[in-house]
Amino acid sequence: MQRPVFAANWKMNHGPSDARAFMRSFLAHFARRTDRQVIFFPPAVTLTTVLEMIKERQDILVGVQNIHWEDKGAFTGELSAGMARDAGATVALVGHSERRNIFGETDEQTGLKVAAAVRAGLTPMLCVGETLEEREQGRTEQVVLRQLRAGIANIDPHHVATTLVAYEPVWAIGTGRTATPDDAGVIHVLIRQELVGLLGERGNAIPICYGGSANRGNASALLAAPEVDGLLVGGASLDAEGWSSIVRT
Ligand code: PEP
Repeated sequence: MQRPVFAANWKMNHGPSDARAFMRSFLAHFARRTDRQVIFFPPAVTLTTVLEMIKERQDILVGVQNIHWEDKGAFTGELSAGMARDAGATVALVGHSERRNIFGETDEQTGLKVAAAVRAGLTPMLCVGETLEEREQGRTEQVVLRQLRAGIANIDPHHVATTLVAYEPVWAIGTGRTATPDDAGVIHVLIRQELVGLLGERGNAIPICYGGSANRGNASALLAAPEVDGLLVGGASLDAEGWSSIVRT
């Protein structure tokens, strides 16, 4: 495994004032380390605050939680990849299950967003994962592979080396119900095989993170599962001390 990735998805939490207090505490608990990659996905209005707080810490990356697939235009409330890059983001979450299931984002739109991120010089973190219903119907593999293929369909294979993937079973997100390391490992291996099948050796360079109720109690067991290269964490990333102990796993 390359160095593990620890990504914090704050969702719609932590405006600029909270983020300043959070980062002050987090940075006090987490000294610079080169053996892991830490990424923050704050709300867009908080991006600049987090970037200011980590000015001296090139070991930490900051990204946006969503982008539009167009570069600019009449899309009220949206944010383009180029604007996010201009503001200092280097990573973009794409296809998070809340975007897919609450806001109706399609596989096709997800593929366009991944391409827009790459075009703008952002590293996309493509999220894939099945719902509880899909899992109970025995469709997990089919859904994950469909989302994965659509997500990377529009990018030049030469650019995929800068892509991240996150497997996030929807039934485990924010529910306290974590996939077991074995459950996660099976799907991570499947994703790895598909990436290598589609991209050849380049597919081995793409980190695959697990997300879904990861916390300080289960982080090391999840990271020990096959092809689990990191964690994407929502709820447990909102507390600075707790998050700093997860990233030190
Ligand atoms: C997420 O939102 O990406 C996530 C994994 O959330 P949680 O850790 O709260 O399940």
